[in-house]
Amino acid sequence: MDIPDFRTGSGRISLDFIRTLRWRGSDEEVEELDSPQALRAWAAQLGPYAPNADIPVPPPRLLRTARETREAVYLLLKAARSTSAADCPPEARTLLNNVASAPTPRPVLDKQGGLSHVAADPVAALLSLIARDALELATSPLVARVRDCAGPNCGAWFLDTSRPGTRRWCSMDRCGNQAKKSTWRAKQATYE
Ligand SMILES: [Zn+2]
Repeated sequence: MDIPDFRTGSGRISLDFIRTLRWRGSDEEVEELDSPQALRAWAAQLGPYAPNADIPVPPPRLLRTARETREAVYLLLKAARSTSAADCPPEARTLLNNVASAPTPRPVLDKQGGLSHVAADPVAALLSLIARDALELATSPLVARVRDCAGPNCGAWFLDTSRPGTRRWCSMDRCGNQAKKSTWRAKQATYE
């Protein structure tokens, strides 16, 4: 089974989560959460759990909830970015409030002083964390700092936490680097 190369680095877990539907609304739209195994892999990669944590493959019902939660997060943040969280569609608001009512991963301190997170149902707990993150972001002044990545083939949203508020790419190592490379290539072409 092919597990996609999930993208990270948008600055909030809710923003990383909505990009698992890549190129949303376009002809090239790609569903990265196309199986319970993919959802499990996303939770292992982006969740707060230890690298060797036991994360069971979620049932198909939870995969459905995950995708519904993701689309509700998208609708909420879209409303908050353009007008206000008050314009979040009621179904999305109800769903997010419900998902957020579940327990989130809880921190555990080990004897070496390391902190990890555990949950009875790791995937459901992560969805709750994502819903809470989106609800908080959508109602915070920070939502004005959610931007579209300037990468031509990206379409991701990210939180600009730079002091001057001039960050342009969802990640420096991917989109930012690509932009630098093409500027460099353009320069080389001019000199040739
Ligand atoms: Zn990007």
